[in-house]
Amino acid sequence: MQDPLYTDAHAEALLQWFALQQRQLPWRSPPGAPPTPAYAVLVSELMLQQTRVETVLDYFRRWMQRWPTIEDLASASLDDVLAQWTGLGYYNRARNLHRTAVEVTTQFSGVIPSDEGSLASLPGLGPYTVGAIRSIAFGQPAALVDGNVARVLARWHAVAADPQSTPGKSLIWQHAERWLHSPSARQSPSAWNQALMELGATICSPRNPDCSQCPVSAGCQAFALGTPTDFPPPRQRKTSPIVAAQHALVVVDSADAQVADPGQMLVLLGQRPSSGRWAGLWEPPGTEGPDGAERLQNWLSDQALANAQEQPMITHILTHRRYEVRPLLVRTEDRPVDLGALGYVAQRWMPLAQAMSKTSGLSRLAQRLLEGLYAAPALEVGGPQAKRQVDLFLQNGPPSGHTAS
Ligand code: SF4
Repeated sequence: MQDPLYTDAHAEALLQWFALQQRQLPWRSPPGAPPTPAYAVLVSELMLQQTRVETVLDYFRRWMQRWPTIEDLASASLDDVLAQWTGLGYYNRARNLHRTAVEVTTQFSGVIPSDEGSLASLPGLGPYTVGAIRSIAFGQPAALVDGNVARVLARWHAVAADPQSTPGKSLIWQHAERWLHSPSARQSPSAWNQALMELGATICSPRNPDCSQCPVSAGCQAFALGTPTDFPPPRQRKTSPIVAAQHALVVVDSADAQVADPGQMLVLLGQRPSSGRWAGLWEPPGTEGPDGAERLQNWLSDQALANAQEQPMITHILTHRRYEVRPLLVRTEDRPVDLGALGYVAQRWMPLAQAMSKTSGLSRLAQRLLEGLYAAPALEVGGPQAKRQVDLFLQNGPPSGHTAS
């Protein structure tokens, strides 16, 4: 006998809605077409974690043009991979994607495996991504739960526990797995999982679920209770620790950089070590911690970099941290500066406009520091013409010819 909690008619209604209403996305196969290749599922799902679809669209297209196969990605340098990821944040995803590509190429002859155990052994692939690859690329009845699915199922079944807690997570996964036993969902696990995600992304939104348009409202317990937004319960917010940091914006200010276009000024960047926060990314040289300001000042004097000018403080909020960064603007006429003492593993000079491009390999915080540099009155480069170019840049991004390749 059919379990009333998992009525197949509701599953069928959701699938029909998805067939008609789904958004066309570059990583999504239209109805009737062959399944999305596992590599495209892998790339898109990692990009989509913590990131909006609209943001990912461009990144995904550029990525697939640059590295159309997993073997192409495996042969790329990590530096290039991180540069291509610039602006997406959560750079561990890029590092794991690259490591996974290398492992698939060396351990699985360049073919992404379809079994749960092999997939779960790959770097950074948790139950959600494993479920996505198994169901979407290989059509296996594998459940998945991301934030959207958790919200839909929490409302559909009026789950009162926090989906981030162990009991809440376990309950939501049980519902996700149980639904895959219904005949309609089982017939097309790929469409089923994507339909749940799509419902959460477009109709069952966190604050304003549009229940009047929802294909499963007839079975939704939160809707029946009249309190959809009570599910899932609000999360207890932890206060983010504050990290005090100081960065020196070292700029070459020699005769060849005294040009009307500030985008051509050279800025000094250091590469962070390959482990830890923002591993492998480039940034203006900086220090953190209670003695950070003193260490940076010592370094500036060791490098004979004088007359550092304080710039306005920048506050940068990440999910679990809040940065309060005080930039110092330092001009030099010479280039020999050594970043080794600050813990950087490599250094380079880069035109400012290139450093601001989408493929520079800089974290968003590093780019925000440089944005401030663009507008810093202390630079006084180029006069009114430069000011106009800065304004244009801030409106439109770097002028053509300044984007890194
Ligand atoms: S009826 Fe409303 S609360 Fe329930 S799943 Fe649909 S949109 Fe979400």
